[in-house]
Amino acid sequence: MANVLWLQGGACSGNTMSFLNAEEPTVVDLVTDFGINILWHPSIGLEIGDRVGELLRDCVSGKTALDIFVFEGSVVQGPDRTGMMNVFADRPMQDWVRELAAAASFVVAVGDCACFGGIPATAPNPSESTGLQFHKAEKAGFLGAGFTSKAGLPVINIPGCPAHPDWISQILVAVATGRAKDLLLDAKQRPSTFFTSYTQTGCTNVNSYAQKLDGHFGQRGGCLFYTVGCRGPMTRSSCNRILWNRVSSKTRTNHPCIGCTEPEFPHHDLAPGTVFKTPKFMGLPKEVPHGEHKLVYYFRAGMEKFLLPHNRTLKETSK
Ligand code: SF4
Ligand code: SF4
Repeated sequence: MANVLWLQGGACSGNTMSFLNAEEPTVVDLVTDFGINILWHPSIGLEIGDRVGELLRDCVSGKTALDIFVFEGSVVQGPDRTGMMNVFADRPMQDWVRELAAAASFVVAVGDCACFGGIPATAPNPSESTGLQFHKAEKAGFLGAGFTSKAGLPVINIPGCPAHPDWISQILVAVATGRAKDLLLDAKQRPSTFFTSYTQTGCTNVNSYAQKLDGHFGQRGGCLFYTVGCRGPMTRSSCNRILWNRVSSKTRTNHPCIGCTEPEFPHHDLAPGTVFKTPKFMGLPKEVPHGEHKLVYYFRAGMEKFLLPHNRTLKETSK
C-alpha cells in the first residue's frame, strides 16, 4: 500500500481535472488494483477543516508514512518570500511543501507550474511563483538544485498544461509498485518514456511538414509550423502517441501545439497576436526544429523553399 498526498499551490486545478479523467489506469484502478491509498486530495479527499492540518502534521512527523507527495501548481513565495499569498491549513503553503517534501519517499510535480513555474512564474511574476525544483529552465526552484527525496530521487517532473492523465496515473503506478528507480529521467527530470520523442511523432500532418504545405486552424491537412506557430517539432511530449481521450490530439485537430511540456512555457509574453504566430527570420521560422543547427536548417529550408516545386500552400495545391 502506497500513501499518496496531493496538494495544490498556485493552480487552476487543470491537472486534477486531467487526472480524474485518466483511463489507463483510471483513478479507481489506482485504488482498487495498484495499492494506492489517497491520503488526501483537494477534490476527492474526505477530511475537511482541522482534520486536514492534523493529517499533514502526521505526515511531517512520520506518524503517517508519506510514500508519494504530489504537488500541483506553482510554489507561491510572495509577498517578499513570506508565502502569505497562498495560505493552507493555517500556514503558508510553501512551509508545508518544504516539510512534506523532506518527509516523503518520492516527490512528484504534476503540471508545468509545479515543474517549472509555468504561467504564474512568467514575468513580472507578482506572486513570486516558482517550480518545485526548477525555475523555468534553470535548476533553481523552491526545493533547491540538490534536493532528493528520502528514496534518493530528485523531484519527478510530469509537465504539461495540463499533464496528460495517463502520464500521471502511469507514473504513480510505477512509483507505487517500486519501479521508480527504473524511471529514466531526462535533464529536466521528466520520465523519458513520455518525453523523449517530439510532439510531432505521430502527427497526421507530418507529410505536409516535410513538403512545407502551410496549414491553418481547423483546416484539414497542412502543417501548422509555418504560420500559426506550432511547436510540435521543438516540444518533447507523447501527445500524438498516447492520444488524449484515446481519440485525438491538438495537432490532429489542426490546433498548433503550444509547447506546454517545456520549461520555457508559455513561450510568448501572451500579448495578443504573439501566441499563434510563427516568429520569422528572413521569411523562415526563427526557431529551428528538432535541435537542428540553425545555419544548416536555414540553408536547407531556404533551398527547399525556393527550388523545390512542392513548396506551396494548400491553397496553391488545390488550384
Ligand atoms: S502540425 Fe505541428 S506537430 Fe504536426 S507536423 Fe506540423 S509542426 Fe509538426
Ligand atoms: S500538443 Fe503540445 S501544447 Fe498540446 S498538450 Fe501536447 S505538448 Fe502540450
